[in-house]
Amino acid sequence: MRFGALEAGGTKMVLAVADEQMNILCRETLPTETPEKTMPPMIAFFREHPVDALGIGSFGPLDLNPASPSFGSITKTPKLTWRDYPLAPAFEEALGIPCVLDTDVNAAALCEAEMGAGRGLKNCVYVTVGTGIGGGVYCEGQLVHGLMHPEVGHMLLRAHPDDPAPDGFCPYHKGCLEGVASGPAMEKRWGKSAKELPKDHPAWELEAHYLAQMCMNLMMTVSPEKIILGGGVMSRRHLFPLIRRETLRLMNGYVACVQETDSLIVPPACWPDSGLLGALLMAKKAK
Ligand code: ZN
Repeated sequence: MRFGALEAGGTKMVLAVADEQMNILCRETLPTETPEKTMPPMIAFFREHPVDALGIGSFGPLDLNPASPSFGSITKTPKLTWRDYPLAPAFEEALGIPCVLDTDVNAAALCEAEMGAGRGLKNCVYVTVGTGIGGGVYCEGQLVHGLMHPEVGHMLLRAHPDDPAPDGFCPYHKGCLEGVASGPAMEKRWGKSAKELPKDHPAWELEAHYLAQMCMNLMMTVSPEKIILGGGVMSRRHLFPLIRRETLRLMNGYVACVQETDSLIVPPACWPDSGLLGALLMAKKAK
C-alpha cells in the first residue's frame, strides 16, 4: 500500500508518496498559484505515482465539520482564489481515493506526537512560531478538533511593562500571542527580522517572556507532557533556554511535578518535514 501527502502552504505545495513504513519514495514542490493553475499538475503527480489514500495538511481556515456541506474546503483565506475551494473533495473526485484534510499545524503536530519529539506520549502540544503562530493539541492519543480546531496563536497574554510595542499587531485582537510574538510582530517592533536580530538583543528576552506565558497557559489548560516548539523563529535555538527558564519563573512552583523544563519544552524531531510526514500519517489512518 502507498500513501500520498500534500503540504499546502501559502507559497508552495509539497507533494510526496511513501510506503507503509513512511519511507518517502518521491516528492515534488510546486508554487502555490490559483486552483486553476496549481491543481492539474498536483493531480497529474498522483496519477503518475498512484496512492491508496491522500492526507492533506493545508493553510486555513478550513471547514473540518463532517456535517457541513462545505466539509473539506478552505474557507475565509486571504488568498482569494482559494477561498471556498473544496480542496479535499477535488482530489477525492479526481483520484477516487479517500482524502483527509486537516490544518498544516495539526498535520505537523500529529507527526511530532506519533513519530517525533512526543513519540510514546499520549498528551503533547506542537506550536509553530513563524509568520503566524499555530498549535496542534494531541490529547489522549488524538488531535483535538472540537468546535473547529484550536487556535493557540490567538490566546490573550499580559503585555510586558518594558515592551516598546505593547498593543500588538493582530488585526483581530491586537495583543494576542500572534500579535506580540510572531516573526512579523518582532520585525515591526524592532525594525529587524528574527533572522537578523543578534542573540544579545533585548528582543529575545521579551520573545521568551511571551512564549513562556503561552507555555504556562498550555500547561494549565491541557496538561501536556511535552510542548514542542517549531517554526522559523524557533530555529534561533538560543530561545529555548530563555523560554524554559521564564516558564519556570512564571509557574512559580505551582505544578509540583514540574521541577525542570528542559525535557518539557523541546524542539521538533522531524522539522522541516513534520507537516509532510503528518499528512502521510493522516492518509495511513484513513485506510
Ligand atoms: Zn489574534
